[in-house]
Amino acid sequence: MRNHVTEIEQIRDYGLRVVFGNWSTLKNDVKFSADFARQRLKWVAYIGGKRESRRLLGDVILRQQDIIDARPFPDASVTTTWTIDLHYPKKAMCACKAFQSEDRHIKFAPYPIPYRCLYSRNVENLFMAGRNISVSHVALGTVRVQRTTGMMGEVLGMAASLCKQHATTPRGVYESHLDELKVLMQRGVRKRNLGAE
Ligand SMILES: Cc1cc2nc3c(=O)[nH]c(=O)nc-3n(C[C@H](O)[C@H](O)[C@H](O)COP(=O)(O)OP(=O)(O)OC[C@H]3O[C@@H](n4cnc5c(N)ncnc54)[C@H](O)[C@@H]3O)c2cc1C
Repeated sequence: MRNHVTEIEQIRDYGLRVVFGNWSTLKNDVKFSADFARQRLKWVAYIGGKRESRRLLGDVILRQQDIIDARPFPDASVTTTWTIDLHYPKKAMCACKAFQSEDRHIKFAPYPIPYRCLYSRNVENLFMAGRNISVSHVALGTVRVQRTTGMMGEVLGMAASLCKQHATTPRGVYESHLDELKVLMQRGVRKRNLGAE
């Protein structure tokens, strides 16, 4: 395992090595070369995207068991609907050290993430939205996708408005203004933007 911050160049180089190693196999191995003879590699990402990076701890750390058992939380917010989608390295087709990614999925019913996963437990004015929220490694496998993380941003916009209105913190919203947050979440941002109120 390499460090995403201090060894980012090595990770990038290794990623490119994997891409070109696999491409070379497809072009040169007799098993594949006929199918790929006329194919061209059009584009390769120079900076690799990351499915997982640092996560911050909130007042709740959501776990696989909570999601699978549909554990109810009073501050249910953004609904996560993607499977728990975990990726593992699998030996590549070529005779090199490169690997391929293999995904495995665990299905569950749509599940609402607690609001308390979306703010820091020890930095009192810090919200989180995205793959940095307070979840376990396995739970991240479902919450990290873009529509879900986008909804986190919407909920945090609502919570931030309550922080300003009541001169309180993200935790203060949970402790003293949760009902107001629920009203805002039920109303949603889209209806407001469309002038449906
Ligand atoms: C290969 C791959 C395939 C995926 N496929 C899908 C898919 O099909 N569908 C889907 O919904 N999701 C997919 N995902 C997941 C999804 O794209 C990510 O989980 C999501 O984009 C994470 O969003 P984020 O805002 O948390 O982080 P990011 O999108 O990484 O945004 C973080 C931003 O912060 C910036 N930043 C970092 N440090 C600093 C700093 N110190 N100062 C200022 N800015 C900084 C970064 O440059 C970046 O722009 C995929 C992910 C990967 C890696």
